[in-house]
Amino acid sequence: MHELGITQGIIDRAREAATEAGGIRIRRLYVAMTPAADFSQESIEMYFEMLAGEDELFRGAELEFQWGSAAATCLACSRSFDADRPGAACPQCGGTQLRFDPETPMIQLTGLDIVESGDEEGAGSAG
Ligand SMILES: [Zn+2]
Repeated sequence: MHELGITQGIIDRAREAATEAGGIRIRRLYVAMTPAADFSQESIEMYFEMLAGEDELFRGAELEFQWGSAAATCLACSRSFDADRPGAACPQCGGTQLRFDPETPMIQLTGLDIVESGDEEGAGSAG
């Protein structure tokens, strides 16, 4: 269950980036998963809730998943190609047994939607 450490890494990075940007709360975290990931989005969401659920900075924050591509090699015919979704098949032989470069990131934080201080709702001109 290394998802726990992976999720903690995303949380740490988000906290660092939000603090640097003067954010007081994180609304949304944009996360790109690649087919090299050997875990599901659900497990990341579960650990995120567990690790950050009671954290003021992450209160009500949502995870927004996107798919990134990863360089894969087909184990059947050795063809190299870019797999852009889970369960991607080899374009040459249709094989689904793929090997990913160990350097390929499985998941990455790509962006944040933060609330900055003084940016709370209700500050607009009503009336
Ligand atoms: Zn193949």
